[in-house]
Amino acid sequence: MKKIIRVFTLLICVFLIYGNAIAAGGDVKSPTGTAPDRYVYYPGTEELKKDEIRLIACGTGLPAARRDQAATCFLAEVGNGDKFLFDIGTGSMVNVAALMIPYDFLNKVFLTHLHTDHWGDLATLWAGGWTAGRTGPLRIWGPTGATEDMGTAYAVEHFLKAYNWDAKTRNFVLSPKPGEITVKEFDYKAENAVIYQENDVTIKTLPAIHAGDGPVSFILEYAGLKVVIGGDTFPNKWYIKYAVNADLAIHETFLTPPDLVKFYGQSPGQALGVGTQIHTSPQAFGKVMSTIKPRHAVGYHFFNEQGTHDDILRGVLETYNGPLSLAVDNMVWNISKDAIVERMVVSPDQAWSVAGPNKPPDPPAKGTVPDPLSDFIKAGHWKLADEAQAEMIKEFKKEYNMK
Ligand SMILES: [Zn+2]
Ligand SMILES: [Zn+2]
Repeated sequence: MKKIIRVFTLLICVFLIYGNAIAAGGDVKSPTGTAPDRYVYYPGTEELKKDEIRLIACGTGLPAARRDQAATCFLAEVGNGDKFLFDIGTGSMVNVAALMIPYDFLNKVFLTHLHTDHWGDLATLWAGGWTAGRTGPLRIWGPTGATEDMGTAYAVEHFLKAYNWDAKTRNFVLSPKPGEITVKEFDYKAENAVIYQENDVTIKTLPAIHAGDGPVSFILEYAGLKVVIGGDTFPNKWYIKYAVNADLAIHETFLTPPDLVKFYGQSPGQALGVGTQIHTSPQAFGKVMSTIKPRHAVGYHFFNEQGTHDDILRGVLETYNGPLSLAVDNMVWNISKDAIVERMVVSPDQAWSVAGPNKPPDPPAKGTVPDPLSDFIKAGHWKLADEAQAEMIKEFKKEYNMK
C-alpha cells in the first residue's frame, strides 16, 4: 500500500512539474516581466535555426468556403531561408499574407493536384504578389496528367489565358517580369523521384490515388529532417513505403460518412464514396500512421469544429495512438531533431505586404507595351476631376522631386 502511495505521489509530482511546464511554457518570475509563451507564434519575431523547419498550415479545409478555414495550403520554411508553398487552395492567401513575408520569398509553389481547393488561390498569389513587391516570375512545380490537357503545364498556360485581360492591363503600368509563371512539370507516376534539389533542400514526388490520374504526394528533406505532404489520397503503397521514418507526416483524414450526410448535405451513397474511396477515412488514416510511425502525424482536410473533430479523433484512435495534430488554419510546427512543437500563429487581420531585399523592377518604357485604353474611353475623361486633384498632385510631386 505504501509503495502504491509513493508511486502515486511521484506521478502527481511529475504531472505538476511537466503539466505546468507544458501548459504555461515556464514560470513567470516577475509581475512586470515576460510570460514564457508555449502556445503562440508571432510571425517575424523568431529566427529560424539552421537545422530547423517551420511548417505553417495556411489552409486545411474543403472546396466549399468557410471564413474559419481556407482550402489546402502548407508553407514550409527551412533553416537556410528557403520557403516552399505546398498547394495554394482557395482562400489560403489571406493566411499566407498575414505572415508578412516578402513576396520574393514566396515564389516557389508545389501543386499536389489541380482541384480548386489545392490551387484556387494561385490568382491571388500571382496578381497580388505582382502588385505588392514580387520582382521575378512565380515558379510552379506540378504533375503531368494522363493526357496533356490534364497536366499542370496545360492548366497554367490556360490560367494565364483566362487572366489575359488582367495581365495585359497590369503589364502597362507594372514590370511584366513578376507576371510571368514558369512551370516545371514532372511525371505523376514517378516514384520517390527528385523534382527539386537546391541549397541542401530535396523535394521528391510519389503517386497518389485520388479522383483521377495525376495527384501526387511530396517529401521534403532538409538537415536530416523529413516532412511528407500527402495532398489528397486514399492510403497507398507508395506513401506507406516512402513516408516511413518521417519526422512529420501530413495525410488527409476526411469527414466521417455520417458527418458528410449530416453537415455537408451529401446523400449516403455519395458520402460513402467520397469519404472512403476518393478520400481517407479516420480509421484508414490511423492505420497509415500506425504503420509508418512518424514522429508526429498531421491529419487535415475537414471542417474542424468540436463535433467533427471528436468524430474523426474517435475514428483515428481505433487504429493509431501516437502523436497527432488534427489541423486547423494557422497551426504551426517547429521541427528539429530535438523536438516537434505545435503552436498557433497569431497574426494581424490587416497585414500589409513587406518589402524584401530586391528593388522592384521599373515599369516598361513608354511605347514598349500597348496602351490598353482606347481613344474612345480616354475621351470620357472628366476634366473637373483633374481640376479637383491638381493641387494635391502638385504637392505630391514637390515632395518627391517629380517632374
Ligand atoms: Zn482533391
Ligand atoms: Zn482536396
